[in-house]
Amino acid sequence: MFEAARTILKQLFLKPATNVFPAKYAPASTLSFLDKVSRQEVKLHPPVTVPPGFRGKIAYDRENCTGCQQCYKICPTQAIEWLPEEKKIKVFISRCCFCAQCVDVCPVNTLVMTEEFLLASYDKYADELVIVDSGELPDSKKRKKPGAEAAEKPTEQS
Ligand code: SF4
Ligand code: SF4
Repeated sequence: MFEAARTILKQLFLKPATNVFPAKYAPASTLSFLDKVSRQEVKLHPPVTVPPGFRGKIAYDRENCTGCQQCYKICPTQAIEWLPEEKKIKVFISRCCFCAQCVDVCPVNTLVMTEEFLLASYDKYADELVIVDSGELPDSKKRKKPGAEAAEKPTEQS
């Protein structure tokens, strides 16, 4: 009995384990709350930092994609569309289950899962939910053009 009372009292002074995001208290209307945020009348309560290895929205380095199709073939939800004429891919985030199999299978690291998780939208085909090109990614293995390696080597001094 004493132990239970002690635990209850302790709980009263602990911070909540849940992340109070996007607002400290549930707003009466989410839409009007978001309107106020866009007008900078209220601020979003910041989200917690995501842990290492978090699987958020996919980013795609189009230029370095070799068009091997491995990601397209392994995707369990058909979230990846193959573009045969360009030999590139397109990723539909609204179909993605964030399994990261495409990231693991890509031989040149042109796909990564970012920390971005605010993906709610009324339009599943909105620009931000259809990944066509995210630009250069830090770990993407650059494809070298023939002769580029030799050109990079410093010339020997005579
Ligand atoms: S993370 Fe999984 S579901 Fe999403 S695009 Fe990659 S393979 Fe498909
Ligand atoms: S696995 Fe990588 S290189 Fe191959 S098509 Fe997909 S993104 Fe491009």
